[in-house]
Amino acid sequence: MKYKRILLKLSGEALMGSRAYGIDPGVLAKYADEIKQIHDQGVQIAIVIGGGNIFRGVAGASNGMDRVQGDYMGMLATVINGMALQGALEDKGMLTRLQTALKIEAIAEPYIKRRAVRHLEKGRIVIFGAGTGNPYFTTDTAAVLRGVEIDADVILKGTRVDGIYTADPEKDSSATKFDTLSFEEVLAKGLNVMDTTAFTLSQENKLPIVVFDMNGQGNLLKICKGDTIGTVVTV
Ligand code: UDP
Repeated sequence: MKYKRILLKLSGEALMGSRAYGIDPGVLAKYADEIKQIHDQGVQIAIVIGGGNIFRGVAGASNGMDRVQGDYMGMLATVINGMALQGALEDKGMLTRLQTALKIEAIAEPYIKRRAVRHLEKGRIVIFGAGTGNPYFTTDTAAVLRGVEIDADVILKGTRVDGIYTADPEKDSSATKFDTLSFEEVLAKGLNVMDTTAFTLSQENKLPIVVFDMNGQGNLLKICKGDTIGTVVTV
């Protein structure tokens, strides 16, 4: 396997499937199957999941809510998604631990880096919930932060699109896909990979990012084997 320890970032929105809100159990089960394929190959797997299918602080703020209050609600939404994913993974026989940046001791361990690494070494999948634990951040930033902390080989950002394009392929049919990009090229071309905080943290720590289509069957396994899937951003 090319990658031995990965940090998989899944957006909350992806969990909606064709719904307008919430969680589609079919999507969860499909993701669990994809994750099992790499787990069976001995890849150590940590996951950060978003909360956009339930709540986003920015959306709350645009409706008059206090931003910080909304952001904490968004962080709790990621815990709900983390619990749902944990259930789906365990249904397929994988051992998991949920660790949260905000303490919710009845349902999750508090985030402790050394403990997380130990779980990974024992073959348990570790899901990190509640983002970074701070308002004004995103789960992309949480993914890179945790990725750097646990010394992951790569951030795998699963999206609906199969990589980084010259323009938004959902809006511009002439857009073409990049197979590889350097961090500098992404900045020079003004491409949107992650928010600036997340992207800079990844660049400074030389942690590569692969943007790929999580709905493409077998993609996760192919990437871990070293196949050219999606777009790789590297130094
Ligand atoms: N959030 C936050 N701090 C963090 C991570 C997330 O305040 O470190 C809040 C923020 O309100 C965000 C919401 O949680 O909008 C859900 O996360 P995100 O929007 O990143 O989820 P995704 O877009 O991946 O579904």
